[in-house]
Amino acid sequence: MATVAIIGAGFAGHTAALYLGHRLGRDHHIVMISKNDYFLYLPSLVWVGVGHMPPEKVRVPLKPVYDRMHVHFVQGTAREVHPDENYVLVEKAGGGPVRVNYDYLLVATGPKLNFEGTPGLGPQHGHTLSICCLNHAIQCRDAYGQCIERMKRGERVRMVIGVGHPRSTCQGAAFEYITNVHKDLVKLGLRDRAELMWFSNEPAIGDFGVGGVYTGSGSRVRSSEDFTTSIFREFDIKWQVRKGARHVVADRVCWEDYEGNFGETEYDFAMLIPQFIGSPLKYIGRNGEDVSSKLVNQDGFVIVDGFYGLPYERLVYTPEAWPATYQNPNYRNIFAAGIAFAAPGSISVPHITRNGTNMTASAPRTGMVSGTIGRLVAKNIISLLEQGRMTHQERMTEMFSACIASMSGSLWDGSAVSITLFPTVPNFLRYRNRCGRDPFGTRIEIGLAGAWMKRMIHTTMLWKVQGNLGWRIIPE
Ligand SMILES: Cc1cc2nc3c(=O)[nH]c(=O)nc-3n(C[C@H](O)[C@H](O)[C@H](O)COP(=O)(O)OP(=O)(O)OC[C@H]3O[C@@H](n4cnc5c(N)ncnc54)[C@H](O)[C@@H]3O)c2cc1C
Repeated sequence: MATVAIIGAGFAGHTAALYLGHRLGRDHHIVMISKNDYFLYLPSLVWVGVGHMPPEKVRVPLKPVYDRMHVHFVQGTAREVHPDENYVLVEKAGGGPVRVNYDYLLVATGPKLNFEGTPGLGPQHGHTLSICCLNHAIQCRDAYGQCIERMKRGERVRMVIGVGHPRSTCQGAAFEYITNVHKDLVKLGLRDRAELMWFSNEPAIGDFGVGGVYTGSGSRVRSSEDFTTSIFREFDIKWQVRKGARHVVADRVCWEDYEGNFGETEYDFAMLIPQFIGSPLKYIGRNGEDVSSKLVNQDGFVIVDGFYGLPYERLVYTPEAWPATYQNPNYRNIFAAGIAFAAPGSISVPHITRNGTNMTASAPRTGMVSGTIGRLVAKNIISLLEQGRMTHQERMTEMFSACIASMSGSLWDGSAVSITLFPTVPNFLRYRNRCGRDPFGTRIEIGLAGAWMKRMIHTTMLWKVQGNLGWRIIPE
């Protein structure tokens, strides 16, 4: 009997746990180690942050699901991985440290929200808000409510929404938030009392960290830059792109721009997504030595089977540089999935300012991509145990993904931008067009249908993560 341990019950880890539990749970020992006792459906935090969805609707208790799926659940925070001796040290919620032994380990810890990377950023020790976890989204909702009260009293409020570090990712979530705020204020009759400003490190508006999206062909090509610009113009949202926040004080974001100039943007309310780095796990060798360099890169993301260190100009013509099996090359029984694995580089064009600041939108890994990779790793661990070899591989340069950015959750007059990408990371060797993607599989659509899709995905995903009837036929 083998033990498969997973750290992190997010999109990647929880998906893997469902597949592993379903297939192996009766004959092997599947252990999930996760900080919280619930699965958090992060995409709907946008609605929590504007007060349109109660917090209890975005989480699912894990224990009943794992009991049914034959997965042993340890609620706690993994602190140390001992890869030579195959165990994880976990600080159990409300208890002391416990040791979890493993034969295979999947690290699916998502990001550490690096508010410390931008002094003054964040709701805990800084001045800004976030919607990246449940508590933050609730705090953001309350602060937004206070802004509404101010506007009702006749005050004008400056709202800055976007990302808060020169190397941030997840611009899509911030885009959803700013457009939902706009629609909400319109409904409340207060829109003329708010100045909405989009603030981002993207090389161009509509880049979203994926190098922009181009749809159509020939003279009918339209880009996500055109779409986003027209939405922002229609919604009267101003924008500042090619800017990285250096630090934040109580009423202004102090930034550097692409050209290396410094400046400030004033705000009364700021929701800025921090930089994502890897989970601060310690990797300790047999003799107590630090073996992190064999497992993680300088940002704490787990090194897997990608080609690292290629310059961007070569990376874009090397689709096989993106990992295929997500297996660590030094410890072959350790895998990583979702945001936890180290991408070989950015998807967006990187930029270094004349002051040496790296202002590059980092490669996003969306919920769908994270779930897909979680499933792939689970299937490989299953085939390793059953057949002694891995049978699955899929690079992000071969992977389909879809993302629906809500612009208001209303099913009556709401709207959403639906984006499909094939492949997720451009493959310029295969698709010799401007965005390195298949024009048929790469689409952008805007409209009410997207709002229905977004709501439907919320419902079907919560059904799936509970392992309910038919969960395997619902796509990640
Ligand atoms: C506001 C918002 C909106 C988004 N909207 C969309 C969207 O519309 N569509 C989309 O596709 N994607 C969206 N995303 C992105 C999506 O949520 C992420 O891509 C996805 O959550 C990544 O999955 P993951 O499993 O890698 O990490 P996570 O979902 O972050 O899961 C990681 C898990 O590991 C746990 N963990 C971390 N460290 C430890 C530790 N040391 N010990 C134990 N447990 C640990 C965490 O508590 C968490 O449960 C959004 C993200 C945000 C923040």
